[in-house]
Order: sequence, then C-alpha cells, then structure tokens
Amino acid sequence: MTAGAIWAIGEVVDGRATRLSTEVATVARSLAAASGRQAVAVVVGADPGRAAADLAAFVPRVVAIAAPLATERPTAAVAAPRIAALARSEDPDYLVIGATPDGRDLAGLLAALLDLGVLANAIDVAWDPAVGPTVESSILGGRVLTTSAFTAGRGIILVGPNVIAAVAAGSSGSVDEPVVDVGTEAPAVRIVEWVAAEAVAAAIEEARIVVAGGRGVGGPEGFRVVEELAEVLGGAVGATRAAVDAGWIPYAQQIGQTGRTVRPALYVALGISGAIQHKVGMRSSGTIVAVNRDPDAPLAEYADLFVVGDLFAVGPALAAEIRSRRA
Ligand SMILES: Cc1cc2nc3c(=O)[nH]c(=O)nc-3n(C[C@H](O)[C@H](O)[C@H](O)COP(=O)(O)OP(=O)(O)OC[C@H]3O[C@@H](n4cnc5c(N)ncnc54)[C@H](O)[C@@H]3O)c2cc1C
Repeated sequence: MTAGAIWAIGEVVDGRATRLSTEVATVARSLAAASGRQAVAVVVGADPGRAAADLAAFVPRVVAIAAPLATERPTAAVAAPRIAALARSEDPDYLVIGATPDGRDLAGLLAALLDLGVLANAIDVAWDPAVGPTVESSILGGRVLTTSAFTAGRGIILVGPNVIAAVAAGSSGSVDEPVVDVGTEAPAVRIVEWVAAEAVAAAIEEARIVVAGGRGVGGPEGFRVVEELAEVLGGAVGATRAAVDAGWIPYAQQIGQTGRTVRPALYVALGISGAIQHKVGMRSSGTIVAVNRDPDAPLAEYADLFVVGDLFAVGPALAAEIRSRRA
C-alpha cells in the first residue's frame, strides 16, 4: 500500500491563493519530498481556477473544488464538508493548513469530520522517518518550546505565517476539478463582517527589512531612531511587547509569540533583550543585527552581528553612514 499523500489546504482571498497558502504548499511539498509521498494542494472557492493555478506553481497536483458560495470567500462550514468528502475517497495522511482565523475554523471542523488530531501553531515542521511530521510549537506563554508528533500516523498541522519561505517548484503541477459529492452540509454560518488586518501589520509581515525597537528606546520619542533607520533602509518598523504594553507603538507592530511572525532578509533590533517570546516571532529572519548596551543580552546568542553600544549613538550613526554612501 502506498503511503497517504500530504495535503496543503489553500485559502482564497479575492479569487487568489493567499501568500500563506503558498507557504503551506511549500511545507507540504518539503514533507512529501522527505517522506517519498505525494504533495497535493486542495482549494475550495466559487471559482477556484485562478487560486488553483497559483498553487500549481508549488505542488505537483492541485484539486480545485467549486462550491456554490454567497461570497467569493468560502467559510469553513462550506469548505470542510467538501474537503472531508474528498479526503474520505483519497485518504491523505496529513493535512497542512494556514493558521488564520478561517484556517483554525477549518481545522476544527475537519478534525471532527475526519476524526483526526490537530497540532496547532507550528513554528517549525520537519519530517522524522520514525514518527512522521514533527511539529515545534511554543506553549505555556512561550516559556517552553515543544516538539510533537502524531501517534496515529495521520493528522492536521496548523502553520503560522512566515514559518517557511514560499518556494515555487521547478515545474507547474496539474489541476483536477472533480465534482465532489458532499453528502451532509455543515450548518450554515453567516459572515457578519470581514475586518482586514491593519495595513501596518501586513507591511511588517511582508517586509524584506524590519527595524524593531524595544524597551531600550525609552519612550515613544525614542522610536524616532528606529523609524529613521527603517526609513533609510526602506524597511518596516516593528516592536517588542514591552514597547507595545508601554503604549509607545501600536499592537499591530508587535513581533513575537503574541504578535506577528516576520521573516525579513534583514532584522535590526534596537534596545531589545531577545526574550524567547520575541525570538519565536523573528528567529527565521535572514540576517539578525542587534544593538544593545548589555553584552550578555540573550539576543547576543542568536544575532549574526551584535553591536555592544548605545542605540541612540549607533542607530543615527548607522542611518547617517547609509545615507552618505547613497549620496
Ligand atoms: C505570555 C507572554 C507572551 C509574550 N509575547 C511577547 C511577544 O509577542 N513579543 C515580545 O516581544 N515579547 C513578548 N513577551 C514579553 C517578553 O517576555 C519580554 O518581556 C519582552 O520581549 C522584552 O521586551 P524588550 O526586549 O523590549 O525589553 P527588555 O527585556 O527590558 O530589554 C530591553 C533591552 O534594551 C537594552 N537597552 C536599554 N537601553 C539601551 C540603549 N540606550 N541602547 C542599547 N540598548 C539598550 C537593555 O540592555 C535590554 O537588553 C511575552 C511574554 C509573555 C509572558
């Protein structure tokens, strides 16, 4: 018997697969490559063709399920019975879903419909030949990192944004458009309102460069140093929870376990100690540069470049140097 496939469940917004869906498809493909299984993306939408084509760049096979929808964006109640019906006929072993509000709803419904366990909030996913996918999560308020695996050889994994960089496959996959016999529909859910995340939050999640400030900036006016450096580097401004809790900067810019996860090419930390709850939100950044006057700050252990100094001296000097080289 061949091993069951690994499915990536795509999320459709405005007719297109979301960026997180392409990351989830990349996770499924890398788990499939490590385990000799097939990676398949499944997408449900009123007219899922465009989103399916988006995901075909990432996996060898996409299944697009058209569903009669009141809105272009399917709710979990519409998507789950269709995905479950397909799963009953194709018998995948693992489903990878993006940890958005819709993705969490969907995981819950699919867990019930397919009798599967869920490993939530993955901050890393790998394949272990002995146990299948291993899922790293941060629990107990971020004090502990756990690594878990399924005991039943199947299950659902919820992956947050920026856990893995989306990487297209070398060739484009095929798209199937089966007619799925749903059987019983889930009870209907009426969406009262969609509220988009503040633009600034989307900006830090997608930025190639993030400059973040912590308690060390000393107050809202101290963030000017952070903003100046971000501006000169063409990056977005992030912050620690300490700075957000102090009211110096909006929550939408908080990075970490209870904030956003970012994965920029360059992460510059000014006056940030590097607590584990902050680290889980930025540790996958390409290059991490930190400025801190305490040589023993935890960030020193995982920064690529750790500058021991006063951020109010180093930050503006760095901005001035970059400006002068551009002139
Ligand atoms: C359940 C839970 C969830 C949490 N979620 C998050 C989260 O999502 N994100 C998050 O960030 N934190 C989170 N935290 C908080 C986290 O534990 C830390 O308290 C927080 O990250 C510390 O922020 P900080 O580095 O800005 O402050 P501090 O730890 O106080 O560090 C400030 C740093 O600035 C340096 N400094 C001071 N002045 C200067 C100067 N002039 N020049 C250079 N360096 C200077 C100091 O040496 C120090 O290292 C969470 C905590 C809990 C319990």
